[in-house]
Amino acid sequence: MLTRRQFVSSAAIGPLALIGAPAILRAQGLLHAYPFTLGVTSGDSAPDGFVLWTRLAPVPTDRHGGMPMVPMPVQWEVAMDEHFATIAAAGEAIARPELGHSVHAEVGGLLPDRPYWYRFTLGGDRSPRGRARTLPLPGSSPQSLRFGVCGCQNYEDGHYTALRHLAAEDLAFVYHYGDFIYENARPGPGITPWGQALPLVRSHVGQECFDLADYRLRYAQYLTDPDLQAARAAHSWLPSFDDHEIGNNWVSDMDAKGAPADIFLLRRQAALQAWYEYMPVRAALLPRGGATTAYREARFGDLLAMDVLDTRSYRSDQPCGDGFKPRCAGMTDRTAHVLSNEEERWLLRNMKRKTTRWNCMAQQVMMMSLDRRMTPDMLEKIYNLDSWAGYEVPRRRLLSRIKGLDNVVVLTGDEHQNFAGILDDGNRPVAVEFVSTSISSGGDGSDLRFGSDRMRANNPQVKFLNDQRGYLTCDVTPDNWRTNFMVVDRVSIPGGAITRRAVANVARGDVGISMS
Ligand code: FE
Ligand code: CA
Repeated sequence: MLTRRQFVSSAAIGPLALIGAPAILRAQGLLHAYPFTLGVTSGDSAPDGFVLWTRLAPVPTDRHGGMPMVPMPVQWEVAMDEHFATIAAAGEAIARPELGHSVHAEVGGLLPDRPYWYRFTLGGDRSPRGRARTLPLPGSSPQSLRFGVCGCQNYEDGHYTALRHLAAEDLAFVYHYGDFIYENARPGPGITPWGQALPLVRSHVGQECFDLADYRLRYAQYLTDPDLQAARAAHSWLPSFDDHEIGNNWVSDMDAKGAPADIFLLRRQAALQAWYEYMPVRAALLPRGGATTAYREARFGDLLAMDVLDTRSYRSDQPCGDGFKPRCAGMTDRTAHVLSNEEERWLLRNMKRKTTRWNCMAQQVMMMSLDRRMTPDMLEKIYNLDSWAGYEVPRRRLLSRIKGLDNVVVLTGDEHQNFAGILDDGNRPVAVEFVSTSISSGGDGSDLRFGSDRMRANNPQVKFLNDQRGYLTCDVTPDNWRTNFMVVDRVSIPGGAITRRAVANVARGDVGISMS
């Protein structure tokens, strides 16, 4: 039932004229089931608001989510309290068939640095409740900040137990480093390259994703998971994407399968549209011409500036045919780049302002250049050519330019393992890197995997290594950065237990990591 206030507010905003009342009535007659099956979320917070997200999908795995192909007005409300006693803002957003009936409501005019609660209403149906948070004002001096970091959530590899635990954390926001979906589909149980069994815990609906309907269905299936919905509803997110939102190890207009660029770009366009539809991001990130400008900054007063990078869209091809390989000439290609010129200038300009105590690069692929040899019979050093290690010239350029800031923390995903380590410019340490493991990708794992001891011995810059599933929480104060490595004991069955496996501390102004 609509309350009197909701009725008045929707009438006042009045998109009825825009859409045509008969269409709405007809459409509502066609809506036979509860439309908020995929939950709610919020993201891209600012000091005065955030984006509220939902998608109408009465039958999530049906074509078009079981929706009639007409625009639908959806009411939203933002409250000061979880019981919605005091409404801070309310309005209406249109769920359009062009965007899979997703809703992105950009809310402004709110107070800084505080929680809000929100919900959507369509006709007589009300969405689950979500909790969102605004950021502190740029001119403020927060004394502490706690946020989360996660990503790599292959549905087939395990349950989202880590996300259920993440939902219960008290966090200002969560940075997601991508691999929100995996585009591929496994035929059955597998085995990892290091010899560990990888059971097929649950199966993707459909085959590998290529068109918009495929990607939409994949996101819809992922969002039927209650643990993912709980984490999305509990926090405000800062989403990015990596490779599997589109296709394994893609960069720019190239995919790993060798599709011609013009053909791959059609796939990329479909995948990025689905990503936009499902993420709580601003209209500025709507893909245009098959591309989105996803690099952006979030600031937390004078405490932290977080620059979210896009390390896929503009990158030059992986050298030497990609993969894990010995050193090759392409690794020192002077024209190679990971970021676009514009993105790199933007990043350096932001980091050199010196207006925040900490600078954070929130990105996707490992920046440390590691020797990946796992066994003693491997004589030559092995590199991951899809990481920054394959791009020595831009890697060294970036690290040399941030030398002396002594307050840079790099946050990374992609590896499906936890790492803490030091980045140097060839002479001295210039930044620290924390690599967050995966939510589920790679299966249960174990504290150390086959070859981990050799990785440690061959890479003295690595201070911590762990192969379990989980997420990071970061506690930031003006003088100290603490990263908590949170791991679950298993993801092959539901209900795994969470523990804090390790803690890394960094003192501002002194590039080093102390583990405990
Ligand atoms: Fe991944
Ligand atoms: Ca990845």
